[in-house]
Amino acid sequence: MKKKWVLALLTGMMLTAAACSNDGGNTDGEKKESIQIGAAIYKFDDTFMTGVRNAMLESAKNEAKLDVVDSQNSQPTQNEKVDLFISKKYDALIINPVDRTAAGVIIDKAKDANMPVVFLNREPIAEDMEKWDKVYYVGAKAEDSGTISGQLISDYWKANPSADKNGDGKLQYVMLTGEPGHQDAELRTKYSVEAIVDAGIEVEELAKDTAMWDRVKGQEKMQAFLASNGDKIEAVLSNNDDMALGAIEALKASGYFKGDKYIPVVGVDATAPAIQALKDGTMLGTVLNDAKNQGAASVAIATALSKGETPTKENIGFEITDNKYVWIAYKKITNANIADAE
Ligand code: BGC
Ligand code: CA
Repeated sequence: MKKKWVLALLTGMMLTAAACSNDGGNTDGEKKESIQIGAAIYKFDDTFMTGVRNAMLESAKNEAKLDVVDSQNSQPTQNEKVDLFISKKYDALIINPVDRTAAGVIIDKAKDANMPVVFLNREPIAEDMEKWDKVYYVGAKAEDSGTISGQLISDYWKANPSADKNGDGKLQYVMLTGEPGHQDAELRTKYSVEAIVDAGIEVEELAKDTAMWDRVKGQEKMQAFLASNGDKIEAVLSNNDDMALGAIEALKASGYFKGDKYIPVVGVDATAPAIQALKDGTMLGTVLNDAKNQGAASVAIATALSKGETPTKENIGFEITDNKYVWIAYKKITNANIADAE
């Protein structure tokens, strides 16, 4: 019995000693040179997240060393990256989860290592967010982007009686959705249609399918919609710009946007190619998903936490809600206010 205790005590002491000597390689109590933040993006090959990633790097420039890695759309790969960041003893993590329901596992790991974690763009469930006080989320209220894109369509419909191509008083639409389970996909789909209905317009959904946020898939799905519905379609709603741009390609191939063959297409994000499409007149409108501020807020929170500070509006420059959330506002973008998105 006694022997066991001594052994446990000794092991404990050794572990503590090891932990101390590994503390950034500083055994002499010197201050750390710079803050090191590890960031894992769900996949680099995503137009919107590339914008966020660039914004993160830009705002980290003089603040911290930011190690950004590609999780290649694989949760196991992302978990390995997190383990690696932890083994490197970084000061904080910024995680754009592949699967937002996997956040709990990441929080457990981070908490064990006492490494604060900021989630981004893919919102962990509330229960996971409650697991630790050094867990934050930066994102945008998906409902609002849905409402705005619905308003873009209903405003167009009301201003253009010819938009009702078959004259039945109903708006026949197709919907391209993002990745199933992503809060932005679910809520944009729901709230966009609700906004049209709230504007007093009767709707009929001709088709709805996921194109996984992807431009090529958006084009393929739109081709399929056109093949089965043809000229019956009166509007195209898309959960993001990339899929909307794919849809526009398919529509162009079917003769749209030439002469007076037109159909309103709306997206979300306000990426550079979408702004170009607004200028070209192929996209009716989009919603600014503010990559710049989402990137900046994530880095600001991670930096404050790395310094041992509690993030507040004063030290990060963004309002914090419920002690954990930073919500970046969406904005309606049409040809009339393109400058707001550039
Ligand atoms: C964006 C999409 C993007 C997705 C990635 C959404 O907020 O609108 O374009 O693919 O986030 O998680
Ligand atoms: Ca109609």
